[in-house]
Amino acid sequence: MTRTIENTTTEAQHDWPESVYIQGGEHGVVFGAADGPYQTAFFEAFPGGTFLRGEGKTLAEAEEKCWKQYQVFTACDGTGEPHGPFERRQYTNGAGFCTRCGIWMSQVFDPIPDDPNRERRLIERVFVDRDPEAIEEVLTTVADAASLPHAPSGD
Ligand SMILES: [Zn+2]
Repeated sequence: MTRTIENTTTEAQHDWPESVYIQGGEHGVVFGAADGPYQTAFFEAFPGGTFLRGEGKTLAEAEEKCWKQYQVFTACDGTGEPHGPFERRQYTNGAGFCTRCGIWMSQVFDPIPDDPNRERRLIERVFVDRDPEAIEEVLTTVADAASLPHAPSGD
């Protein structure tokens, strides 16, 4: 059965279960990357407890990457054990990675309080602080998205 990818007019290539919400876009803009913002097509799937995201030059390429992650995710589920044990890596908000399949999952740890002296992330300055400079930076970047570098290709 074919399904339309939410927020697009494109049909999914893969046989995603009905219970898994899927969405995507041809022209995403990603902030917070080490080399600055970039544009990308993206595909996201929400199988419960996590979201999986693929990026690529095209929506099809992004779905393909997301589908590969979904195969890894369900194979780990298929062992009959729940995901885990988990490791936090860089996350302090309670999210972590399954050490068996490597998939990121939310709410698997108690959150660690933030260091009050750490540098604020752009997204916090926009949505928490309502910092006009940060809002301007985001709006300018999105308006000029076509000139941004594209997501790095390949795996
Ligand atoms: Zn797992």
